[in-house]
Amino acid sequence: MIKKQDVFEQALAQLEEALSGMRIEKGIARQLKTPQRVIEVSFPLKKDSGEVELIQGFRVQHNNARGPYKGGLRYHPQVTLEEVKALAMWMTWKTAVVDVPFGGGKGGLVIDPKTLSRPERARLTQSFARTIHEVVGPRIDVPAPDVNTTGEEMVWFRTVWAKLHPEEEHPDAVITGKPIQEGGSEGRTEATGEGGVATLDALRDAIRLPKKFTVSLQGLGNVGSYFARGVEKIGGTIVAVGDSHGAITNPQGLNIHKLLEYKRIHKTIVGFEGSKKISVDELLEGPFDVVVPAALEGAIDASRARILRSPIILELANGPTLPEADQILSKRGVIVIPDILANAGGVAVSYFEWYQNMHALRWESEVVRRRLRTLMRSAAATVFERARRDQTTLRTGALRVAVERVARALERKS
Ligand code: GLU
Repeated sequence: MIKKQDVFEQALAQLEEALSGMRIEKGIARQLKTPQRVIEVSFPLKKDSGEVELIQGFRVQHNNARGPYKGGLRYHPQVTLEEVKALAMWMTWKTAVVDVPFGGGKGGLVIDPKTLSRPERARLTQSFARTIHEVVGPRIDVPAPDVNTTGEEMVWFRTVWAKLHPEEEHPDAVITGKPIQEGGSEGRTEATGEGGVATLDALRDAIRLPKKFTVSLQGLGNVGSYFARGVEKIGGTIVAVGDSHGAITNPQGLNIHKLLEYKRIHKTIVGFEGSKKISVDELLEGPFDVVVPAALEGAIDASRARILRSPIILELANGPTLPEADQILSKRGVIVIPDILANAGGVAVSYFEWYQNMHALRWESEVVRRRLRTLMRSAAATVFERARRDQTTLRTGALRVAVERVARALERKS
């Protein structure tokens, strides 16, 4: 596992690699490397027991040249400022790759929400909203769900923010990823997973993906579970799955619906009928057609990159491949479909949600899904074409597309 303080270094190394083949003015390059604002907060959380805990948190606003800062709120015991800075920077590239009018930001609280009761989680999110309410807003910075946060947290946040900003005409637009009945968009919950499927499908000829292919999936949270459901429709069979408790395989294919039901009851996938337990190494290194890291950063390091036996990696997590691993994979001819393209479906539909909120509109599910597919297909084609033209990896191609767009916006502003 990567050390969290190195994650920002990882994001910078990727950026340097992209910049090395571009003509970007020094002052602009410096701006791209530096977050515009870093907010560090702490606030007390009253536990059900009456005990008071001090919570530490961050909101990093990396860049808003193309529009309001945009990016999720992550609750995790190992969250660090360096990590949030990296994630905020990746959001800037992601919104630029899919060309939605947002910048990049990210937030995090250092806490394991699984140790909290529902009322405690509510108080936690409400206090976070009160603490950062002045620096967010529909035209300033628009948070969303991320690791361990869902529509429920979005509603708690929105409700506090709306009370503090009675002047705002469209308070729902302060945050995306809300449940549909609370002003959310059709298709948002499924968007990151389904966007990953659309990306894989859009690139299938270019990356020579077989008609029928096997998939190994690390992470069965919101993103992984919708990806698993969707990938079956384009010829994929999930033959291995891992979560934080362990990993399993069934070479005949795992029944995802039954597996999700099993996980809901048993809180783990280990022991699922007809499956065999495997190690995380086997999950990520075994011979599959596509490996899909959909958990946390740093899953694929250099030593893993040397022995991994799958020709394609689809990054649904943010930052799962380390720069040194990237170089090895590229030399070995392993194709990495980078996070800032592969998992951008979530923020794309976040944009649709924000747009519907700002215009008091409601799009039907089919409209959202069609628009998402069109957007992902177009982004995938642009990235592929750029990488082909520049003779680079898809990651560097995607970064160059993004950097060019953000740099142009910065130049217009200066
Ligand atoms: N947390 C998601 C991501 O990393 C979504 C962000 C958003 O919708 O703003 O892309």
